This record gives sequence, C-alpha cells and structure tokens, in this order.
Amino acid sequence: MHSPRVQIRPRRRPPLRMLPLGGCGEIGMNLTLYGYDDHWIAVDCGMMIRQDLPDSPLQVPNVDTPKALGIVPKALFITHGHEDHIGAVAWLWPLWNCPIYATPLAAGLLRLKFAEHQLSSAAIQVIEPGEALESGPFTLRYLLLTHSIPESCALMMMAGGYRILHTGDWKLDPEPLIGMPMNAAQFKALAPLI
Ligand SMILES: [Zn+2]
Repeated sequence: MHSPRVQIRPRRRPPLRMLPLGGCGEIGMNLTLYGYDDHWIAVDCGMMIRQDLPDSPLQVPNVDTPKALGIVPKALFITHGHEDHIGAVAWLWPLWNCPIYATPLAAGLLRLKFAEHQLSSAAIQVIEPGEALESGPFTLRYLLLTHSIPESCALMMMAGGYRILHTGDWKLDPEPLIGMPMNAAQFKALAPLI
C-alpha cells in the first residue's frame, strides 16, 4: 500500500532584512538598517572623515536607497558615543523623526549635537547597559562590551524567531582602564544565533 503523499512545507515567516549603509568593509559612518515584517529600525548613524576630500571631509551615509524604497526606521539605536557611530544623527535623524536610544554618555553627546543644530532633544532616550526594550516585532537588549569609550554595547536583537548580535566596536580586555569588563558567560549563553 502506498502511503499518501505528504508534502511538508517549510514554515513560512517573513525574512529578516539587513541594509548596511555604512561601516561594512570600511571604517566610519556606521549605519545599518534591519527590517522585519515592514518594521525597520536603524543601528548607529555615524560620520566619516575623508582626508582625501579636503573641501568636504565630513561625510554622512547616503540614504537614497531607503528613501527610494520608502523605508523609514521607527527607532534608532546607538551602540556607543564615538563620532563614527553618532556623528551623522543630527543630519539624518530629521528625515526619520523617531525615538533614539543611547547609553547615558552617548545620549549626552547627542544632546549637545542636537543643541548645535537647534533640534529638540526630546526624542533622545537613555538606556542603561543590560536593559531591554521593544520596537514593533523587535526585542533588543543592550549588552556591555569593552571599548575605548565607556558604556559601549552590543545589541542582541530578536524578531520573528531570528536572533542577531550587532556588536558595534569592541575588544576583549579582562581589566579595562575604563568601565566594567564584559561578561563572557553572558555572550556564550547567546549562541546559537540565526
Ligand atoms: Zn568606537
């Protein structure tokens, strides 16, 4: 007797999308968009200094592609306060007008930049390392890493069963001169990702 033909279809779920607009394969102007189910978020928004362009050395990421695709991030998450991660926020955020989440030092630096640009800093929200928050289908947790500026964090992001670790900048230093050492056990416990 033939057994009935059973077709097992893979469970359908929307893809997780990633749109790197700066900082991948280059140093500077970090900006990455992630999208799930038409909900987009942005991670970092930095500038790049181009010494080979003396007339316009400060460059910000080109956002023509998300504009053409109608993508407007619903939230901006900052990993740390270096210029190549926050230096373009005052230029590009007005296009998005979304909440901005940053650790206390990065949030303070951003407020200064917003004041220089005569922008209200009401959208800038402080988040402490270790805290988690949600944006649409995304759940994000800020995980402390060691780097050359305090309160640098990786972002553990989850959406629709996908798990992504966006590290930002980091180094492994068990005795950092500033800030707390990273919690290795916490990062080991994240595996497996996607
Ligand atoms: Zn950095």
